[in-house]
Amino acid sequence: DAAESAPAIVVGSGYGGAVAALRLGQAGIRTLLLEMGRLWNTAGPDGKVFCSTTAPDQRSMWFRTRTEAPLASFLWLDLVNKDISPYPGVLDRVHYDNMSVYVGRGVGGGSLVNGGMAVTPLKSYFTEQFPTVDADEMYGTYYPRARAMLGVNTIDPAWFESTDWYRFTRTSRKAAGNAGLKTTFVPNVYDFGHMRQEAAGTAPKSALAGEVIYGNNQGKRSLDKTYLAAALGTGNVTVHTLEKVRSVSRAGDGSYVLTADRIDTTGAVVETKEYSCTYLFLGGGSLGTTELLVRARDTGTLPDLDPAVGAGWGTNGNTMLGRANHVWDTVGADEATMPVMGIDDWANADNPVFAEIAPLPMGFEHWISLYLAITKNPERASFTYDSASGAVKLGWTAAQSAVSVRMAKKLFDRINLANATIYRYDLFGSRSKVFADDFTYHPLGGCVLGKATDDYGRVKGYRRLYVTDGSLVPGNIGVNPFVTITALAERTMARVLVEDTAP
Ligand code: FAD
Repeated sequence: DAAESAPAIVVGSGYGGAVAALRLGQAGIRTLLLEMGRLWNTAGPDGKVFCSTTAPDQRSMWFRTRTEAPLASFLWLDLVNKDISPYPGVLDRVHYDNMSVYVGRGVGGGSLVNGGMAVTPLKSYFTEQFPTVDADEMYGTYYPRARAMLGVNTIDPAWFESTDWYRFTRTSRKAAGNAGLKTTFVPNVYDFGHMRQEAAGTAPKSALAGEVIYGNNQGKRSLDKTYLAAALGTGNVTVHTLEKVRSVSRAGDGSYVLTADRIDTTGAVVETKEYSCTYLFLGGGSLGTTELLVRARDTGTLPDLDPAVGAGWGTNGNTMLGRANHVWDTVGADEATMPVMGIDDWANADNPVFAEIAPLPMGFEHWISLYLAITKNPERASFTYDSASGAVKLGWTAAQSAVSVRMAKKLFDRINLANATIYRYDLFGSRSKVFADDFTYHPLGGCVLGKATDDYGRVKGYRRLYVTDGSLVPGNIGVNPFVTITALAERTMARVLVEDTAP
């Protein structure tokens, strides 16, 4: 069969892919967007697009027979996870040795499953991580552009102080304050106007009904509602779903050739397709893009890729933990799923940590304060191609996770000491496991900007090949990453469309 060709192909429809698709479409360039997940726009038998977190079904996870939620247990009981039938569900947990990585699957990538926290890092830390990027231009142009397009908004502080739905956050703030720590409001892409209507009973509940990691049926401005809707609106962008790009090579004329497996909802490959394009944009995320390029280099389909491809990967220092509050410090039976506050101790040169005050909506009072700590863990790992199995492996070690745990513990020991409280020991499966150090929500790096690519995401060794996603970020950005990923993609597209696509 002849390969289907398009001037531009974008692989993956998360933040990096969505920005690329929109800006290509607006420039009048016919673009094909290939996404391995499904389009989440059709209601299931329950009348909802996404299933709930409390009664997950096949829609919850990517080809699993049982869900694998981040909080494995409660009082050590396996109450949280449920048996499901295999299906291209919206949340995936990718297992490597010593580290598993949560990612979104579907049109919108991580935006479908994430907490919506839209945080811009400190300019000084951005400069530390991206010394060759003009920070004034980022903070003057690309961050504001990204925030506007993503629909970033903030909670009304007066409502925050008064609503039961954020009692859990106020309780955690008080505990941090008792230890002399600073807390700060964090913007979000969830529509807080909608959330207040949910609270008032005038809109169907989503963030106030426990929905988040398996998708939000209301209120969330995920990419399918923002960048991707605009991309389709240009009339130049076509999306193919349930198509996983397997390999990339280059033809004699310099065009790129892609092989993609089209699967059905049982996961069976129903067709293997060939595509060709002049411009190839990789937006498969830190895992997806890096795996494609490591495999291409090491199997010889793109042999001139830089040795830096695969390197510089980190977890953004992610560590999750819970504290037990005193009985009089209630968190409330009602918890909104969208985090709106963080403990900001990043300026503490001794032990920089930014800890998101995370929800644990169980519908009853449990006195637990849950946190996702982002630590300044300097450890990095590499992806390598294993020719025996054909798999791409990640060299992250347990000792590297222990660095994040030590940093998180230092901060939360302070909080416990000041409040005479203790950690929860029952949340992460095995006995006496206090810190969830074996998974991350924030995979970053693998094709680091300025190392595997030039300073704009052009892949070294090849023309008209670009990376636009989280693999550009060198392993850590100190806050939740998607605003930075989006802003960097905007910067790449602004440059590439001017310099590389002129006739
Ligand atoms: P992704 O968003 O991961 O998109 C990649 C897309 O490419 C996916 O749709 C994938 O299916 C597709 N793909 C991959 N490989 C292929 C292939 N070979 N062929 C075809 N398609 C492919 N960040 C924040 O900033 N704030 C938060 O509050 C927050 N909360 C989070 C909560 C959870 C539960 C999770 C999992 C993540 C959270 N994150 C958060 C992280 C954030 O979602 C990611 O950093 C972001 O989505 C990464 O964007 P990306 O463009 O790099 O890739």
